[in-house]
Amino acid sequence: MWRATPPDPEDARRLRRVRAKLDLTPLAIHCNYLINLASIDPVIRARSVSAFRGELDRARMIGAEYLVLHPGSHRDQTIEEGIHQFVHGVAEAARGFKAAKLILLLEGTAGSGSAIGSRFEELRAIRDLAATLTGLPLAYCLDTCHLLAAGYDIAAAAGLRQTLAEAARTLGIENIRLIHANDSKTPLGSRRDRHENIGEGYIGVEGFRRILRQPRLRQIPFILETPAAEENDDRRNLETLKTLCPKSRTTTARSS
Ligand SMILES: [Zn+2]
Repeated sequence: MWRATPPDPEDARRLRRVRAKLDLTPLAIHCNYLINLASIDPVIRARSVSAFRGELDRARMIGAEYLVLHPGSHRDQTIEEGIHQFVHGVAEAARGFKAAKLILLLEGTAGSGSAIGSRFEELRAIRDLAATLTGLPLAYCLDTCHLLAAGYDIAAAAGLRQTLAEAARTLGIENIRLIHANDSKTPLGSRRDRHENIGEGYIGVEGFRRILRQPRLRQIPFILETPAAEENDDRRNLETLKTLCPKSRTTTARSS
């Protein structure tokens, strides 16, 4: 829904204390899925700008390091127009906004329908434009399911190597701050966003083993967004990832 309730200041203070005590960092939160800052529909756009501003304000209130946002859908426009529309929307929402450590993370998408952001080039174009139009620092969040669905063959050894080389060239590995670890219910290039339990989809156990053993990805936090149909599903997916890690020095959480 569009409406959101601001967090209770006392809860926010308690969260800060607990995080400091347990050394829980970074805190990454996800924007509302209704937000489409690339929309040219004036009603959707106005709602999106104000909802996104709310996300920024709440992220600052709870002291989050990362706020994840989808680049939206460019329906009835070219992709270039959609990218411009999106970045102007971000700039409008972020006007006057200041937060010491908050970074906006642009999430790569599966490319279903007219979703922007399924190609690294599009994510890069957004970041470059945002640097000139907004005061908000921007980096990237990649989702393993979206990558495969968008046509990046990260399930195969050669495809993973190629994808990482391309990510390094186009995005810069240092700008990839977060990875959503999800298997994919649908195959390579299917352009569908259907998350599956780790090891049970088209990326598979061996695919995840290779991903988790990439030295260049070792410092990046992974977050599960796998289906949670039953109470134990999150724990099971987390355990699966841990067994595939070279060492079990991993922090994994889930976002919803
Ligand atoms: Zn997804």
